[in-house]
Amino acid sequence: MALILIVDDQNTNRQIYSQIARRIEDGTDVVTCAGSHDALKWLDHNDPDLILTDFNMPGMHGDDFIGQIRANPRFADVPIIVVTVFEDRNLRLRALDAGATDLLISPVDHREFVARARNLLKMHRQSQVLSNRASSLLESLKKSESILAWTQRENESRLVNVINTLPVMVSATDVDGCFLFMNSNKANYLGLKAEDVVGRSCTEVLGEQVAERNTAIDQLVIASGTDLRSFEEEIVSSKGTRKIFMTTKSPLIEGKRVIGVVTSSQDITDRKAAETHLHHMAHHDGLTGLANRSLLRDRVDREIGRCRRGDGRFALHLIDLDGFKQVNDVHGHATGDELLVRVGEQLRNVASPNDLVARLGGDEFAILQTNVKNDTHVEQLGQAITNAMPDAISLIDLSTSVTASIGIAVHPEDGNSFEKLMSNADQAMYKTKAASGNGFCLYATNLDARAEAERRVDDALKAALDDRRFELLYQPQVDLKSGDICGCEALLRMRGEDGALIAPADFLARAERNGMIMPINEWVIYEACRQGAEWHSKGYTDFTIGVNLSPVQFQRQSVPLLVARILAETGMPAHCLDLELTESIVLHDRKQVAQQLSQLRTLGIKISIDDFGTGCSSLSYVKHFPVDRLKIDQSFVRDMLKNPSDTAIVRATINLGHSLGLEVIAEGVEDRAVANALLLEHCDRAQGYYFSRPAPADEFEQAMQKQLRYGTRLVESLQEPA
Ligand code: C2E
Ligand code: CA
Ligand code: CA
Repeated sequence: MALILIVDDQNTNRQIYSQIARRIEDGTDVVTCAGSHDALKWLDHNDPDLILTDFNMPGMHGDDFIGQIRANPRFADVPIIVVTVFEDRNLRLRALDAGATDLLISPVDHREFVARARNLLKMHRQSQVLSNRASSLLESLKKSESILAWTQRENESRLVNVINTLPVMVSATDVDGCFLFMNSNKANYLGLKAEDVVGRSCTEVLGEQVAERNTAIDQLVIASGTDLRSFEEEIVSSKGTRKIFMTTKSPLIEGKRVIGVVTSSQDITDRKAAETHLHHMAHHDGLTGLANRSLLRDRVDREIGRCRRGDGRFALHLIDLDGFKQVNDVHGHATGDELLVRVGEQLRNVASPNDLVARLGGDEFAILQTNVKNDTHVEQLGQAITNAMPDAISLIDLSTSVTASIGIAVHPEDGNSFEKLMSNADQAMYKTKAASGNGFCLYATNLDARAEAERRVDDALKAALDDRRFELLYQPQVDLKSGDICGCEALLRMRGEDGALIAPADFLARAERNGMIMPINEWVIYEACRQGAEWHSKGYTDFTIGVNLSPVQFQRQSVPLLVARILAETGMPAHCLDLELTESIVLHDRKQVAQQLSQLRTLGIKISIDDFGTGCSSLSYVKHFPVDRLKIDQSFVRDMLKNPSDTAIVRATINLGHSLGLEVIAEGVEDRAVANALLLEHCDRAQGYYFSRPAPADEFEQAMQKQLRYGTRLVESLQEPA
């Protein structure tokens, strides 16, 4: 239904136009106004579908009137038909200019009026439909945008829900170490409320000790902008439960900026337990639960490594039962087995907690006795084992008597390898058997012979000192990423009177004990620094020389004073000297050693912990010592591809070292596969026969020269880490 406004100052015209207008459509409504002012007033509150107006009216000119209507956005599209008396071209243009849609000449032709008006109404309606459609499109677009925002918000909370239900502990911290988020899994485990944690610092939430370690690792992630390798850690719950987690840390990135760290920890306690179980089965005897031969060998190898510098001794007791065969024959295998179990228990009773009791098979047992002070100490255990046998037997009703024959070999005097010690202990055991069993024999029963041998070494050492027959070999250390030689370790050799080169294993223990290690090692430091300064002056400036220190030195002299003097005398740059200390040195008289280490570092000297992993079971002490580098012991490196627990130790050491900002070097790298594996584990440096054996100074210099002049590396480049 159309509403039509008719404006004319003449009553008759208004009437005629009204009549015609009503014919345009059924039900058309017509409103008339006598002047433009009335019309404008009416328009304030009404919306006509068509306006018909006279052009010449008193009070306001037609073009002004049309202009005012068009000025109102409501009427921007309303068709306006203007009626003029004259067919004046100028007038028509003025009307069209002002916004008229169409023109009619007075007197108006009825049919023309109706036809034009119908067309205009139709067009007007269509344009209205179009504009409605456009605005509804706009409306729905707006709606879909807000739906999108809403779903995003929904997604976010859905994501939080998902993260909360994951069986993983997840949290995020900002660059200042304040929590941005913690999932409910983690909050529950730590006895916290996830929403309370946000905005609080790690120290506040987790306590100083835990936070300190976390922050150190987080800073590493933030600085590098990359994921840190996963590492195992024990996290204690609010209820005191200890669980092992595999933790991963990744940078939280917004745009191109690292804004924090995401930490996720997965509970691997069960997996670890299974691994431990499997590992235990592989290394223990099923019947008695004692260590088996393979574990004994590992431990003996490790002890040999630990005692390399002569600051430790251990004994290997080989135990064979006398009369066991009869027990089996007379009482049956079940009783025989029970006897073996009882013997195992008794051996465990007499051994110290740090000793290792093993069953080697049949009725053969062994005890690795550690921290041996003197021979009396060894004999006491031999006697205790002998005495324990009747106790084992008393628990079983036996008619036959069973005793033990024991043979003992002591390291380093009686052998420098597992095989040698075993075979010597075996010989001693047969000596006991030959003397009708039930007792023990030391391999070196002839103590005079041993004293004689020791005196010979003492004399040789003294003569070598007098004749200056000590030499240093240099073994290169290689930067795993670039393949460049980045340093070396100075290794001591004694030239025998016959010209043969003697390894430290054959004289060091004695030198430590008779005190000659002091002048010898002083010479080592001096010679290494003299050589280092010479290389430096030849332009080889980018390397460190590792020098091994003896524990005796720290006990008897001020190492910082000695080293400072030698640096001054030789002109060796302090930062090129890298002192290698064992864990036992570091842990002996902690305070005094820590003080000396601090002084050494003030001089600019580098400190490495040698044979890392063999000593103290808790690695956390490294944090409290001023050191620069960890040297993973060769016993872990050698078998890291065969033995999963060695791989784990190597990986843990690298991660621990890096998390404390220390460099990590692996020693004992004998083949390419191990070197590659170390590179993939992000180990920094490596040293070992694969790169080069320890070599005389001129040979090492040649290798450096080749690298500097021709870019020739010791080995072709390793596999790049993924
Ligand atoms: P260390 O400090 O652990 O030195 C590494 C030993 O491992 C060296 O034996 C080296 O020749 C050997 N080695 C290097 N790469 C490999 C490899 O790939 N496979 C194997 N199986 N062995 C490798 P070396 O020269 O006989 O020295 C033995 C120990 O003597 C040293 O162990 C160190 O504890 C001590 N030592 C050496 N020189 C000195 C010194 O000047 N002063 C003191 N106090 N001790 C020294
Ligand atoms: Ca060393
Ligand atoms: Ca070492």
